[in-house]
Amino acid sequence: MNAAVLESLLSCPHCAFAARETMPTDACQYFYECRSCKALLRPKPGDCCVFCSFGSVKCPSVQERGGCCA
Ligand SMILES: [Zn+2]
Repeated sequence: MNAAVLESLLSCPHCAFAARETMPTDACQYFYECRSCKALLRPKPGDCCVFCSFGSVKCPSVQERGGCCA
């Protein structure tokens, strides 16, 4: 069993608020609304999802397959 980490600490680049979020295993999350300042976060260029750009761990696709959903 390859146990991927499904919890990520997502840090907002605008207000530095960090929220613990559970990552979906079947899809990449492209948009994320900050719980604090309500900014809509998008992945940085080259990243597949907001967790890869702003999370404390890479998304499950990257953890298990070493690459993005594509
Ligand atoms: Zn924020």
